[in-house]
Amino acid sequence: MVSEREVIDACPTELFIGGKWRAAEGDKILAVEDPATGSTLCEVADASPADGVAALDAAVGAQAEWAATAPRDRGEILRRTYELMTEQADDLALLMTLEMGKPVAESKAEIAYAGEFFRWFAEEAVRIDGGYQVAPNGKGRFLVMRQPVGPCLLITPWNFPAAMGARKIGPAVAAGCTMVMKPAAQTPLSMLKLAELMTEAGLPAGVLNVVTTSDSGGVMEPLIRDGRARKLSFTGSTQVGRKLLEQASDQVLRTSMELGGNAPLLVFADADLDKAVDGAMLAKMRNGGEACTAANRIYVQSAVMDEFATRLSERMGALKVGRGTEDGIDVGPLIDAKQRDKVKDLVDDAVGRGARVLTGATVAAGNGYFYAPTVLADVPKAARLQKEEIFGPVAPLTAFETEEEAVAMANDTEYGLVSYLFTSDLSRALRVSERLETGMIGLNQGIVSNPAAPFGGVKQSGLGREGGSTGIDEYLEIKYVAINVD
Ligand code: NAP
Repeated sequence: MVSEREVIDACPTELFIGGKWRAAEGDKILAVEDPATGSTLCEVADASPADGVAALDAAVGAQAEWAATAPRDRGEILRRTYELMTEQADDLALLMTLEMGKPVAESKAEIAYAGEFFRWFAEEAVRIDGGYQVAPNGKGRFLVMRQPVGPCLLITPWNFPAAMGARKIGPAVAAGCTMVMKPAAQTPLSMLKLAELMTEAGLPAGVLNVVTTSDSGGVMEPLIRDGRARKLSFTGSTQVGRKLLEQASDQVLRTSMELGGNAPLLVFADADLDKAVDGAMLAKMRNGGEACTAANRIYVQSAVMDEFATRLSERMGALKVGRGTEDGIDVGPLIDAKQRDKVKDLVDDAVGRGARVLTGATVAAGNGYFYAPTVLADVPKAARLQKEEIFGPVAPLTAFETEEEAVAMANDTEYGLVSYLFTSDLSRALRVSERLETGMIGLNQGIVSNPAAPFGGVKQSGLGREGGSTGIDEYLEIKYVAINVD
């Protein structure tokens, strides 16, 4: 078992451009913090706009040769990446916990999830097909081919430091695209380590370039407006996503947007309550609640509200909060003081409007950013946390009477990523699923993420899908050749 220091020291800290590790312009650096202690873990390169352009130069330079690489070779690199991640899962998980805070067991689950994207897209790389069609008049023929989009710009958030990148890099590599990847400044280490692993797996220079920076807007906007990049894939908040969509309109870039969520979780009186409580725990507490898929609003039919609330509160109250590297910890710190204070404000606002605290609602003292797992009952519609992403371990409960009312409350949001539905009535399950305005639904289960499934949202939760058999389409253009047959 390696120590925390050894894992940090073994992680690259420079920019990865054109297959080489190099310092940022002017040797600028930025500090990476441990959210469990508030102390600095290490420093990484802090890229300037000129460094960003160098990364795009490298991606553009490598594009033609990479697109011509045999699909099988691209697939083998992805497969080898999956194997390396599996072999090194313990070290990768510890590194992730140090920079992001979640318990090591959860980081290990994320490493496995991220690795599965590489395995999945290793298999997809050799299945890029096309078409041949006889024209309706019987004379012409249509030949349809699918080709890589070209150099891509990829931007990922801090909450899943490896998986959100893997969901983009996997299909981009499989399709034959090169890329500039910009991870969040708060969690750059997992991505830098992944770039090292992919190089070991055989990825040629220039295909994946990684820039870490404290100036994400200053570095990325010129690249988005550059004209040589052909695609922008972003995972993050709806607010930033909107801004990037505007910038991307300049060059009419292909865009994929995985944005914020405000997931409703519906528990009907006919539900299996064991499953509903288990599902709510998973949907709420995966990643400490810092997930776009986190159940943000829990609606429970009145007849089972008391029992559900009691059981959920017992489970939430029993969770052990602490530094994610320690044994037996269920919930780590939030990512920073700002996020912890936002969660506190949202809870205070709900309580001020009449919500009752069943458990939690306390901030832990000390340097880490801890907030107690919290259950609130009787949360009114006007509470801010019914509209805003909580991104923390807070479960707000609201009662409903009828199916009609539950669906209306669930859909009363500009977001549309995922919803969860607990019922034992098949007709109700189908009826409600058809009416819920979200890209994904967990039916009697609290998790939907799966590399083999199309992940993504509707409304202001995003554009496009990641994973599944359609995930690679985001990185492919369709070209058709019209053929005249005499
Ligand atoms: P964020 O503030 O939008 O940041 C996401 C990424 O964008 C980070 O790398 C950030 O870099 C970068 N960024 C910020 N401003 C930018 C700009 N002007 N130009 C270019 N890049 C910019 O979101 P976050 O707080 O990191 O992540 C939480 C959000 O992500 C939540 O809303 C969550 O729902 C969403 N999310 C969605 C999914 C999904 O699949 N739908 C998955 C995970 C998370 P810096 O932080 O270094 O500035």
